[in-house]
Amino acid sequence: MNENDLSQVVESLGESKFRARQLYRWIYNRRETDFSEMTDLSLSLRHKLAESALVLPSKVVEKAEGFDGSIKLLIELEDGEHVESVLIPEGERLTVCLSSQAGCNVGCTFCATGYLGLKRNLTAGEIVGQLMLIEKETSRDVTNIVMMGMGEPLLNRRELFKAVRLITDPNGLAMSRRRFTISTVGWLPGIKAMTKEGLRVKLAISLNGSTEQQRKQLMPLASKYPLEQLIRAGGKYARQAGIRVQIGYLLLRDFNDSVEDANRLVKLLSGTPCKINIMEYNPMSVANSSTYISFQRTASQHAERFMEVLRKANLTVTMRTSRGSDINGACGQLAGKSKLV
Ligand code: SF4
Repeated sequence: MNENDLSQVVESLGESKFRARQLYRWIYNRRETDFSEMTDLSLSLRHKLAESALVLPSKVVEKAEGFDGSIKLLIELEDGEHVESVLIPEGERLTVCLSSQAGCNVGCTFCATGYLGLKRNLTAGEIVGQLMLIEKETSRDVTNIVMMGMGEPLLNRRELFKAVRLITDPNGLAMSRRRFTISTVGWLPGIKAMTKEGLRVKLAISLNGSTEQQRKQLMPLASKYPLEQLIRAGGKYARQAGIRVQIGYLLLRDFNDSVEDANRLVKLLSGTPCKINIMEYNPMSVANSSTYISFQRTASQHAERFMEVLRKANLTVTMRTSRGSDINGACGQLAGKSKLV
């Protein structure tokens, strides 16, 4: 709930609407989940809230810790659906990978979530709630957020954009927009909506192929938008937001990892303010679907050769190391299972 939603709640409880601002600050800015601790609210309001509302209705039901320190949480939502969130600690930094949907219907062939189908969109509260639960669970402040968990965030953009505002509001959770990344497989209307809204958070587009054909095979639903239009829209957003769009490219052996692919990528990205994140493939634990395609990880010398072509064309390129693969918490492995690993 934003301040406006909260003022309706407060009024419906017969209290003055200005209390909503105090309540908003307690919940988001001070991360207080117990109404009885909100000491500048009247006792009667505290009682009424305690009887009729909950700050965090979701709960952590399982937790798995990887050898590299990453943690995967299975979170149960109020209606019994499950989502997974992944925490990646790196020194002072704590990055969390949040889910935007329970399941997903985009059907990317390299992703375990895609095999679940879509159960439902999360509410803004459930997106923000994952973050607040994680901070509670770890007693640490989250420093970076990536919307890269279960679901295609831009297919749930109304709730996502509301969550972004709650998280980045200086009076709310007060996180920097520069530390919030929305990652999409290329949902063009959503990227355009981000530009229209002036969202100014970071944008990552998973391109994963240098041809329409490759993208069609990998991301059936997302590939309905032509590559060039997608890159143009990403570039337009990046210029408006004053950022470089991150281009995700999952290297798959003998599928999209040739020198020709690298050259096509150079051509496609020419003139776009971007940086490229090369990702290694993480084998999935689901392999029982008829649409399952067996991919393999590109050998490291091949990956190096691919990146060299991009570097020579003056593109910024990094290899993103995979975290949490032993707990099925790496990219493409989230399956919302009640048994986490
Ligand atoms: Fe959905 Fe993202 Fe997985 Fe594709 S990669 S199936 S969009 S969760």
